[in-house]
Amino acid sequence: MATCIFCKIIKGEIPSFKLFESDKTLAFLDIQPLSQGHALVIPKTHGEKLADIPDDYLTEILPVAKKLAIATGANEYNILQNNGRGAHQEVPHVHFHMIPKPNVHEGLGISWPAQ
Ligand code: AMP
Repeated sequence: MATCIFCKIIKGEIPSFKLFESDKTLAFLDIQPLSQGHALVIPKTHGEKLADIPDDYLTEILPVAKKLAIATGANEYNILQNNGRGAHQEVPHVHFHMIPKPNVHEGLGISWPAQ
């Protein structure tokens, strides 16, 4: 879609910090991260809502988000997708957030899960 900012990122028309790319999936750093390593994983086909995206564009997204989370070293993280404006979706191209949480338990010298 010509005016979609994430379609422009896919086409390389605006810059992004890419983390992963395949024929159907792109992952890049969020421009306004909620934590260090906050990434977005998107299908490389335009659709505003999950129901607009063919299944074969969705199957890779969760494994990619999982690998990115592991790569950050975070033990805890959120993976979420805001589906629709009423659900706080701002960019109308389906995207999954992977938001690492600081390893607070390790930082406090507390192991988790508790030994
Ligand atoms: P949402 O509220 O789920 O639609 O989140 C949209 C996310 O896209 C926000 O976290 C923005 O910071 C992020 N975002 C918007 N524009 C860009 C961009 N050009 N590059 C990277 N992330 C972006």
